Amino acid sequence: PWVIDLFTDVATRQAGSMAQVEKLRPLGATNHAFWPFHAPQFPLSIARAKGSRITAVDGNTYLDCHLGFGAQALHGHNPEPVVAAVRDLLGTSTGNGYLHPVESELIGVLQGFLPHCEKFAFLNSGTDATAAAIRLARAHTGKRMVAKFEGSLHGVHDLAAHNTAFWYHGHPVQPFPEVGPNGVTPTPALKGVPIADNGELLVLPNDAKLAIELIERHRDQLACVLGEAVSSSFPFPEHTVPIIKATAAASRDLGIPFILDEVLTGFRYGPGGAAAHFDIPADLHTYGKVVSALGIPLSVVAGKAALIEHTQTSGMPLTDLGRKTSVQTTHAGNHLALAASLATLTLLRDQGDAYYTRTRAKVDRLRSGLAAFRAETGIPLRLLGFGDFIGSFGFTAEESYSDYRDFASAINPIALFLMTLLLRRRGVYALSLPMLFTGDAHSEADLDELFAAVTDSAREMAA
Ligand code: PLP
Repeated sequence: PWVIDLFTDVATRQAGSMAQVEKLRPLGATNHAFWPFHAPQFPLSIARAKGSRITAVDGNTYLDCHLGFGAQALHGHNPEPVVAAVRDLLGTSTGNGYLHPVESELIGVLQGFLPHCEKFAFLNSGTDATAAAIRLARAHTGKRMVAKFEGSLHGVHDLAAHNTAFWYHGHPVQPFPEVGPNGVTPTPALKGVPIADNGELLVLPNDAKLAIELIERHRDQLACVLGEAVSSSFPFPEHTVPIIKATAAASRDLGIPFILDEVLTGFRYGPGGAAAHFDIPADLHTYGKVVSALGIPLSVVAGKAALIEHTQTSGMPLTDLGRKTSVQTTHAGNHLALAASLATLTLLRDQGDAYYTRTRAKVDRLRSGLAAFRAETGIPLRLLGFGDFIGSFGFTAEESYSDYRDFASAINPIALFLMTLLLRRRGVYALSLPMLFTGDAHSEADLDELFAAVTDSAREMAA
């Protein structure tokens, strides 16, 4: 009965939002509310967003721990200098399809953050960026096969939408696909995605030795290896970083381009992202989320000139045109997105290490508070992985999992879904995984409020 009460209570609090849902249902307009993220039965319609707070059309204000899938985590919603930079451009810029001085300014700032990257290409989303990186690697090597790790999320294009963690694409892949001489059996995570054949996709287990053996065995077919240093589907850097470092080094030794997907880790694991923080040798890097601002889409592929130069770029000799590929799209590198990104990254750069020290201290305090709560109550509520900038709450038996499949099996999506609604009732908006995105968006007082809401909700569930 308390679950029914909870559903009714949330629906009542969100009556205005729910009325919009009813209007949209036959039209199918918004497509980012998928299960279990967002508790899609109870989407929230927003009237205003500022800093760490969002105000729904229903009039209720929430502490926002979702922050636009983390894209607004650095400085919160609508930071004034970023809004001003975009406002200055509105009405003067063409938007896209022309160069603009803001582009070279942004590249200058990016070079400061990412000295390990020689060249840059702008796109719109993380999905675009990983698809473009694969295209560049294929153009460079003339080969077709792509290796990715089981569970990892690299967006929704057909290759990426294979063997992802079940909580991204809505249905558990159970039992797990077999592991054979061609890796984990390629398994589409979504309907409508054709099964990639073995010549196209090599799915690596999250095990350095096995992954390297598979890469060596397929060295003649592989165009690239794609990986995340710290993955939201396997959030234990103590296990994933050694796997990725070893795999990246092995790929380098075999001459296979390694693509480090930094859509989550970029600018967060310190200014140089995971590549600099963990010293991971990659040929291409993809950035998304916090590289953009105000929700204006922007992503970046960056890395070795020899790879980026396979796409057509400004000022290239006419004679080279026919030999190039393209990753260009209509809105890639639009001026408003570039200006918003420039203002955001400038704010971050100007704070230097202070930003990272501050964020880490806040998250450490939250983590140790939860450890004390666990010790006191016996409720296995944890802030998982990701050390300093992002975590996901879990009710898992273990502190850390060395095996991806054990962790994926330990996730309790129903408990997390209920937790999301209990948090909602307490005025906290979070993804139902629930993932916590934080940064300067949240003050210490915000995180204290979150701590109280999370522990009270956990107590309520345990009762
Ligand atoms: N790569 C990683 C590591 C991600 O976490 C995500 C999305 O969350 C993506 C790629 C896809 O990015 P987008 O949703 O912008 O297409």
